[in-house]
Amino acid sequence: MYPSRFRYEAPRSLEEAIALLQEGAGEAKVLAGGQSLVPLMKLRFAAPELLVDINNIPGLDQLQVGADGEIRVGALVRHRDVERSPDIARSQPTMAAAAPLIADPVVRVRGTLVGSLCHADPQGDWAAVVTALGGRVVAQGSAGRRTIAITDFVTGPFQTVLAPDEVVVEAVLPAPQGQVAGGFLKLERRVGDFATAGTAVALELDDAGRVARAGIALTGVGSTTIDARTAADAVVGQPLTPEVIGRAADLAAEAAQPSTDHRGSAAYKRHVIHTFVTRILTRVSHRAEEAA
Ligand code: FAD
Repeated sequence: MYPSRFRYEAPRSLEEAIALLQEGAGEAKVLAGGQSLVPLMKLRFAAPELLVDINNIPGLDQLQVGADGEIRVGALVRHRDVERSPDIARSQPTMAAAAPLIADPVVRVRGTLVGSLCHADPQGDWAAVVTALGGRVVAQGSAGRRTIAITDFVTGPFQTVLAPDEVVVEAVLPAPQGQVAGGFLKLERRVGDFATAGTAVALELDDAGRVARAGIALTGVGSTTIDARTAADAVVGQPLTPEVIGRAADLAAEAAQPSTDHRGSAAYKRHVIHTFVTRILTRVSHRAEEAA
């Protein structure tokens, strides 16, 4: 199907984009990579009257890893930029593991990490990663600039707290305090598919190999990304023994809210989450032992 008729604008500054969004009065949409919005428009699930293409706005394509390890991902950083970044490969194992699992190579060339957060698909992968890392987004609109924790940003399936005239300019992953570890695992029916179930784990370890900070987040097993906080809290202050790992896996599987569908039964998806948490934490513990 063809999309409904729409007006297209490609502003060259953020201020101009915000003014256009204001003019659109709720009927305008930001266009970033177009990998979620355009298919929705073709299916007529979305019919914005105005598309505000942000691809010509300078400065939004920066992927920066600071000396302290803080990561800033601009609104035009593509999935592939994250996948191919040596800085991410060296410093951030959860992001590095997730990037090659987003969709397929064609989608990864155009789609953006920030666009994925804004789209708020319950099966999106980046929201789980950013949640596990305790990240935030920076949004700018006619009322100024504000920072929103990712856990406050998404309010429901395909819903966020963004005002109609706000553009997310970047996602920020805070500087770690300890040694960084973690991973991302995703079960997909075939390469390029959305998650049947996925798990992001982000850890910081102290010098003794105990967990100083933890985040565990789940995708595909609820109406939004699930912040499995109780599971993460169960490993904080602990060495990663099989007992501690088993407890965290139990709590993560309990936190999942899967439904039975064509991808699998609810019980199966819970089992997958249990397995993924166990697998990621066990790998981290083996690596910590090898390094000691
Ligand atoms: P767009 O499509 O341009 O926009 C998506 C939504 O976000 C729109 O509502 C838009 O207005 C809004 N938006 C975008 N950027 C901003 C901004 N800076 N500020 C405010 N609002 C903004 N995703 C996964 O996570 N895992 C997968 O396995 C996966 N598989 C896919 C397979 C296929 C075949 C396709 C087509 C897509 C798949 N996706 C998957 C989605 C893909 O990752 C998208 O790229 C991503 O969800 C949206 O990013 P985008 O830049 O393309 O956003």
